[in-house]
Amino acid sequence: MKVIITTPSFGKFHNGLVEEMEEKGCDVIKLIPYSREQMLVEIIDADAWIIGLENADKDLLQHAKQLKLIAKHGVGIDNIDIEAASARGIAVTNAPGTNNDAVADLAFGLMLSVARSLPEANRLVKGNGWSRFDGVSVWGKTLGIIGLGAIGRGVAKRGKGFNMDVLGYDVSPPSPEEEELNIVRVSLNELLQASDYISLHVPLNQYTRSMISENEFSLMKPNAILINTARGGIIDEKALYEALLESKIRGCGLDVFEKEPPVYPELIELKNLVVTPHIGAYTNEAVQLTSEISLENVYRLLNGETLKNVVNEMKLV
Ligand code: NAD
Repeated sequence: MKVIITTPSFGKFHNGLVEEMEEKGCDVIKLIPYSREQMLVEIIDADAWIIGLENADKDLLQHAKQLKLIAKHGVGIDNIDIEAASARGIAVTNAPGTNNDAVADLAFGLMLSVARSLPEANRLVKGNGWSRFDGVSVWGKTLGIIGLGAIGRGVAKRGKGFNMDVLGYDVSPPSPEEEELNIVRVSLNELLQASDYISLHVPLNQYTRSMISENEFSLMKPNAILINTARGGIIDEKALYEALLESKIRGCGLDVFEKEPPVYPELIELKNLVVTPHIGAYTNEAVQLTSEISLENVYRLLNGETLKNVVNEMKLV
């Protein structure tokens, strides 16, 4: 069985995972760094693809003659054309519950970083400078969470630890875990108007694209701090640039961008913006778990067993 791996994180914190796969009967092709040109050739006779953030679009999938599984090494599946995969009988799986704590940690870290200008303060002292930065408190403030799935709830738990009032907005009914957390559900507009910190945790899709744009910024408090560790495209970057430039909000922390690496230099240069290079899921612990879950599906395919975490409801045996 031919398995293509295109994510550099797969097996990074395991010894000999690829060797183990080969022993079990996988013919492993690592396409790292990723090259679409090479992928167009390799995908023709591949059976499984362990994918990171690479684009699995309709054009590419048309070349796959025997692909049965795209195993996402992560949670977000917006880089995969699910419809095209389903039409070709390819199961798409992901790895839920593996990186939620890693992303929730980063979201909280970005909140603290923006609130206390940590990157700027660090730069200053390392450059032999010494001056004061006036920050704002995180402790005891109001935190608004958009998307109360695994990551959103994780951020809520951290917020509770910081004595915050936690507001939430989601289109799905509350889970039992959410109910235990005492999150106050409000409308999106109410959340935007009342929160000191706003953290985004919805998937990117046709309903959430540009969910935060000019109108939403106009509703936020002038002292609001916005965090996006979900996906670029959920915030309209032009509207964000204007909101930060005109101090409509206090600051923003971004781990994700409309285009990655980001191509909006005026935005990146703003002092009240803290940025990281899409590292939300990258802790040793989360990567290890994600690799194990992705690989389990490859082995299930190899052994003719039912796949786990199939997101396009295809049942392959
Ligand atoms: P999840 O599926 O557990 O939760 C998503 C929540 O969003 C669900 O409760 C859902 O009902 C809600 N939702 C969907 N559409 C909505 C809408 N239009 N309005 C309001 N709520 C809506 O997912 P998760 O594990 O919490 O991950 C959330 C997102 O975080 C992923 O889709 C992914 O894009 C992103 N993510 C980023 C990184 C990173 O490295 N920065 C890592 C993992 C995940």
